[in-house]
Amino acid sequence: MPGRRPGTPETRPSDSRLIDRFGRVATDLRVSLTDRCTLRCSYCMPPEGLDWMPDERVLTDDELIRLIRIAVERLGVDEVRFTGGEPLLRRGLERIVAATSQLRTASGGHPETALTTNGIGLAHRARALADAGLGRVNVSLDTLDPARFARLTHRDRHHDVLAGLLAAAEAGLGPVKVNTVLMRGVNDDEAVALVRWAVTHGYELRFIEQMPLDPHGAWDRADMVTAAEILESLSASLSLTPVAGRGASPAEVWRVADTEGAAVGRVGIVASVTRPFCGDCDRARLTADGQMRDCLFARHETDLRGPLRSGADDEALAELWRGAMWAKRAGHGIDDPSFLRPDRPMSAIGG
Ligand code: SAM
Repeated sequence: MPGRRPGTPETRPSDSRLIDRFGRVATDLRVSLTDRCTLRCSYCMPPEGLDWMPDERVLTDDELIRLIRIAVERLGVDEVRFTGGEPLLRRGLERIVAATSQLRTASGGHPETALTTNGIGLAHRARALADAGLGRVNVSLDTLDPARFARLTHRDRHHDVLAGLLAAAEAGLGPVKVNTVLMRGVNDDEAVALVRWAVTHGYELRFIEQMPLDPHGAWDRADMVTAAEILESLSASLSLTPVAGRGASPAEVWRVADTEGAAVGRVGIVASVTRPFCGDCDRARLTADGQMRDCLFARHETDLRGPLRSGADDEALAELWRGAMWAKRAGHGIDDPSFLRPDRPMSAIGG
């Protein structure tokens, strides 16, 4: 991974927060806890897995907690989402969640905490995670058909995901959201059924446009199921009313009504490719091996692990982080002919 490009000549104003040159302020930190996963979703990881990060590079629980504390106490982060790889594979997850949820933000409250997971093992851990202070979960699920699930993920674990979802709702980790990636000719025939299933169970489904982060570099924009197509197919069978006030949220959201017009739930579409929301982005990312990234698609990272392990104090680490965020680009540039994919796969960045 190349080092961060040299700083720009502009002078960064004195501000303790994670600001960039385009006036954005990062308050939402995505923390990847591992690059390993229990599934092998075809658009994310090859069936044989990947070359995992060596253990000595992965931050310990205490190192992670320290960086999260710096982000919350010194840099203005007020929301922390744990992801991966599969974050439930991290043994210290409950401890990391507990330490995070006890932190104090600049305004004196506790940071919001959330988890993005494939749901495998969640049935046994949802209660402990809620007790540790976890706020919400997003569970990824691309199909309602167990056989199709096994083909897509190379693991026969559909029932585990459904059990995880139920346990999350019972433990109060809501609103429980479901992340779905539609692929043409693979599962795009299930869009309406997935929404009906989700609203019936009280889950909020989010369709995510497939991004160029697949392991084989086979992503083709022309083949991607777009937000417009998803909306069209949903609108043919469901009554949808747009919900205003998206803010920094990546999803556009609609109320889903039944035939009498009563609202029965909500559905969202994250159009990262066709309608990028970079101008409103409020995210920063920390990888499991202690690299700060300012974007999912960044080709530059800033090493926080090295300075942390060499004895840098909290303010020195915070200042490194601020300087890195200042150089964030205006947009991810997927549509730019010069776009280059990040060097790391999605599972090593944290989705
Ligand atoms: N293992 C956890 C999970 O399954 O949710 C967390 C990590 S996973 C990388 C996070 C989310 O990224 C999942 O909802 C997954 O479907 C999504 N994802 C992975 N690769 C993607 C891609 N190429 N385009 C769009 N979404 C992707």
